[in-house]
Amino acid sequence: MDCCGYGHAPTPRSLMWPAMLAPIGAMLAGSVGPLGSTAAARTAETASAALDVLRKSISVDVHTHGGKTGITSKAPPNEDLANAMRAGSLAVACLADVPDGPILGRNAQGVLAAVRVPEPGELYRHHLERLTWMDEMVASHGLRRALTAADLEAAHQAGQPAVIADVEGLDFLETKIERLEEAHQRGIRHVQLVHYTPNDIGDFQTGAVTHQGLAAFGAEVIRACHRLGFVCDVAHATEAVVRQAVRVATKPLLLSHTALSESRAMCPTALTGRQVSADHARAIAETGGSIGVWHFFPSLEKYVDGLKEMTEIVGVDHVSIGTDQHVTPGSVPDYTRWVHLVAAMLRGGFTPEETGKIAGGNYMRIFRAAVG
Ligand SMILES: [Zn+2]
Ligand SMILES: [Zn+2]
Repeated sequence: MDCCGYGHAPTPRSLMWPAMLAPIGAMLAGSVGPLGSTAAARTAETASAALDVLRKSISVDVHTHGGKTGITSKAPPNEDLANAMRAGSLAVACLADVPDGPILGRNAQGVLAAVRVPEPGELYRHHLERLTWMDEMVASHGLRRALTAADLEAAHQAGQPAVIADVEGLDFLETKIERLEEAHQRGIRHVQLVHYTPNDIGDFQTGAVTHQGLAAFGAEVIRACHRLGFVCDVAHATEAVVRQAVRVATKPLLLSHTALSESRAMCPTALTGRQVSADHARAIAETGGSIGVWHFFPSLEKYVDGLKEMTEIVGVDHVSIGTDQHVTPGSVPDYTRWVHLVAAMLRGGFTPEETGKIAGGNYMRIFRAAVG
């Protein structure tokens, strides 16, 4: 398996970025307020500053499915993701396969849930089929697959969008740790322990508590993640799992997509079962890790407020952006909006340095520690 299926000679950064980014600046500058107005001038100023942040630091969406034609869709591998990432100047997408996808549906409250018990091997087969889809995406559709931090840096320098292959829920393991080793060999570098399907790893937030936290096999999986070189993601896990995982972990943990409990910025939502308490978030930060905030806010400004809510609890070194971009509507419906989000962060009061950390720097720290 290669890490760069797209034959593309690196272009000198000084030539590549200005050519790529200038049209976005013009687009942003014209997006708010009449030309010549104070609002237009202010928008142009933050657009320019946003592009500067994205040029200097590697930006990462720490949890995504790649939009409407992404990995959870029925669409064949395609160029939509690479094109949108280029248009919005997103450098890296943690692109998550969903092994329990075939058995998910909406429950009576409209929330995603497993609606049947999978057949033995069914989720493993689906996972392998999605890995084949991802292989074709990186072989033929303009995305580099990053296996190391050096790959991410090289892709950013070349101005080429990169993906980190991710798995949302290790439901395909069926207690076979060798399947985790196989996933690593297939290019996966980021794994989330639980999702919506009961497994042998630990309890998840929207399901019945059966393990009282992290199971013995779950502790074995965390140690294997460290040994093999995966970012270990505890999104969807209960607070009890997280507290026990923190004791097992010897590397920073990621909680890739959530928001703070009783988030004022989110407004009324059916997703309260997936939000986290301040203590839950602090436990992740104490490992040196980060909490990704998803994009389920009514506007980019509210999204920035959601990032501020989390930052007030754990500090700017422990917050990331994990949109969970999918077919569910949110304020970053495709990556042409990424540069607008970064501009909104700057307008909302984050400094360029803070914005760079949240938009990717914090994840890069975790990736370097976990994967190398
Ligand atoms: Zn999720
Ligand atoms: Zn997801």
